[in-house]
Amino acid sequence: MGKNSEEAYWGRQEALSEYRTWLEGGADVASMRGVCPETRVVLVAAPPEWTLSAFRYTLLHEFYHAFQQDLETEGLCRQRSEMPNKNTVWMVEGAAHYQATWVLKELQGDTSSNYIDEILLEAYNGSQENGPIIYDNATPLAGAAALRLMIQRGLLAEQAVFDASLFHSCDRELVYNSDDADMTFIRNSWHLITKTDGSYKFSSQALQ
Ligand SMILES: [Zn+2]
Repeated sequence: MGKNSEEAYWGRQEALSEYRTWLEGGADVASMRGVCPETRVVLVAAPPEWTLSAFRYTLLHEFYHAFQQDLETEGLCRQRSEMPNKNTVWMVEGAAHYQATWVLKELQGDTSSNYIDEILLEAYNGSQENGPIIYDNATPLAGAAALRLMIQRGLLAEQAVFDASLFHSCDRELVYNSDDADMTFIRNSWHLITKTDGSYKFSSQALQ
């Protein structure tokens, strides 16, 4: 972004004018802008009525996006991330939700497994409200459950979500091919969640 080219100049102007509008006019904003591969800007407007947990969650979620190093990768990564059955949108949002839920539970001093229950509970409620679709407003919730299902089915190491290494080299499209049967199954099965004894688990159909 600091480059001395016309493109960089207009990139700076565009970003600065957007931030100026938000800062001067006020904005309902929680966002991470990938200005270029090396520069990220996280902006969170925290309404006074927010709880500490709500603030922490939003900040954690947006900061996680800033550690997703490959978001501005061009070429085949970009092409595949624009396909109708892309993994990108639900993996990017799902991982931010997964990580933020985990860290928030840690900060609250909850036992270590509670975050999974929370992730599945929210996905379950989301699927009841919006149906079993993964590409919509509930994408972070659905995507986190889909990542959890990948972990439980042995397709993904949880560590790659925690340390964001899943987002170093566009694994979301180049390692995990959205046309493969495995990924089609994940997209179609993330919502197969059952509630037993007050805790949420994937059904045997999802894990078979
Ligand atoms: Zn997000």
